[in-house]
Amino acid sequence: MEQLTIVGAGCAGLTAAIYASRANLNPLVLTGMLPGGQLTQTTEVENYPGFPEGIFGFDLMEALKKQAERFGSRIRGEQVVSAQLAPGGPHKLTLGNGEIVETRALIVATGASPRYLDLPSEQALRNKGVSYCATCDGAFFRDVPIAVIGGGDSAVEEALFLARFGSKVILVHRRDELRASKIMQKRAFANQKLEFCWNSTVQEILGVEKGSVTGIRVLNKVSGQSTDIDCGAVFVAIGHVPNTAAYQGQLDMDDNGFLKVDDPHTSTNIEGVFAAGDCSDHVYQQAVTAAGMGCRAAIDAERWLGQQEG
Ligand code: NAP
Repeated sequence: MEQLTIVGAGCAGLTAAIYASRANLNPLVLTGMLPGGQLTQTTEVENYPGFPEGIFGFDLMEALKKQAERFGSRIRGEQVVSAQLAPGGPHKLTLGNGEIVETRALIVATGASPRYLDLPSEQALRNKGVSYCATCDGAFFRDVPIAVIGGGDSAVEEALFLARFGSKVILVHRRDELRASKIMQKRAFANQKLEFCWNSTVQEILGVEKGSVTGIRVLNKVSGQSTDIDCGAVFVAIGHVPNTAAYQGQLDMDDNGFLKVDDPHTSTNIEGVFAAGDCSDHVYQQAVTAAGMGCRAAIDAERWLGQQEG
């Protein structure tokens, strides 16, 4: 039986692992599909405290992993496919390889995944010009026009990154003002390679017959007109959905699937189960807030385990 299992190895999961291992809980960390979490898919992180020159997301996550392992965290590349949670534990986790892990306490830190446009053409052209990660795929699209969908920080960050490669980048947003932070907006408006397509939604991604993206058809919501825009790639950056499906019906969630916690604590509705990071935070969604919540979850779990021992 495990004392404490942490599901997820992004900022929240690994920070929980650092704290829990330093508290001698010998935690088992199950990384899931994306070890290191979303920061491994980004370029430079400029707002994580302590790095005045910025740090690459991948490097930051490697450092967190090493730090967690240094104190005895056991990190395994397995995914939880289903969970049987019992108030007070033990909780049973079924892994992708069929193995069952029993654990007294559990921290769910499974993060979030990209939201899709939900268009059949998007699905047909995924990895054929449709991408959700500029860092991963941007360099494939040199000297062609690139479309980025969304108006938040992610969309602007991706657009600025992609401007290094594409002949131009067209940012398609459904409103007439960006949601992104002011500093990101300033950079976007100053970049000569960025163009903006306001008040527009994507009706279709073009190129299905050819097997690769040739453009997008957008609907201008103000004029009601459809227009085709030529491009060789489409990067979708319209937010994320929490990775909480394995806990549906057991852990309380809001309408969008974010886990509910007993704020300011990280306990869920099931005793001995705690949640941290983007799977339970639809407000801040920052690397540093995820790390902070991971720290709180580890302390909450440690105290709860201590209370069980009387
Ligand atoms: P977000 O802030 O939720 O923005 C999502 C964007 O996509 C919004 O502009 C939204 O439009 C649009 N959108 C949502 N659903 C759509 C749909 N079905 N079709 C078309 N457009 C759609 O998500 P995010 O940009 O991923 O950022 C998430 C969090 O991470 C934020 O807190 C952000 O500040 C943070 N972040 C920070 C940085 C940085 O500081 N460098 C970088 C990346 C992310 P509306 O505006 O109309 O709602």
